[in-house]
Amino acid sequence: LNFASLGLAEPLLRSLNDAGFTKPTPIQAKAIPHLLEDHDLIGIAQTGTGKTAAFALPMLQHLAEETERVPSKGVRALILAPTRELALQIGENIAKLSKHTKLRHAVIFGGVGQNPQVQALARGLDLLVATPGRLIDLMNQGAVRLDTVTHLVLDEADRMLDMGFINDVMKIVNKLPDQRQSMLFSATMPKEVAKLARTILWEPVRVEV
Ligand code: AMP
Repeated sequence: LNFASLGLAEPLLRSLNDAGFTKPTPIQAKAIPHLLEDHDLIGIAQTGTGKTAAFALPMLQHLAEETERVPSKGVRALILAPTRELALQIGENIAKLSKHTKLRHAVIFGGVGQNPQVQALARGLDLLVATPGRLIDLMNQGAVRLDTVTHLVLDEADRMLDMGFINDVMKIVNKLPDQRQSMLFSATMPKEVAKLARTILWEPVRVEV
């Protein structure tokens, strides 16, 4: 089993080769084929399992294919993470995996000045990694539009709820087009997370590692 047999194509295979990732992890082997086929997905996986590449690779492939056909029009992938540390880690993964594409990304989070983030948004980008609070602030200021989003990821959904972000998350999700691919990752699946999944996902495939 390798990344090509899961359906991934150039230029991502080149990035994986550069990163030294030779073999998909279990969550990657289970999730990537479903995600490439546009299914929504619930992933039950801890950090350290390779879950970031599991959701990032199919998304990058979709966006790169679309960019070949039509020029980029705005934020197309939104990844929500509960903490600045996780948002930055996801951003680093995306930088590494998108290296041989023309896709652009930015990471936004609270606790730092807004100006560099507002400028990054104004320059244009394809993927946005964000913590919910700062994203709401920037939306309220009109610095970010989400009406072109086709891919949504909620990462560490259980922590997101523990930290009290449910209202912010719903406010953000309600601004997204209904026609989209959505993924939710969580280490645990308490009732509240299952309920959130039912609200946000459509007929999701469930994968667990
Ligand atoms: P994550 O669970 O997404 O935080 O990933 C944990 C670590 O595994 C990160 O440092 C990744 O760069 C690394 N990683 C992800 N996928 C693979 C793979 N297929 N082979 C080797 N390392 C990987």
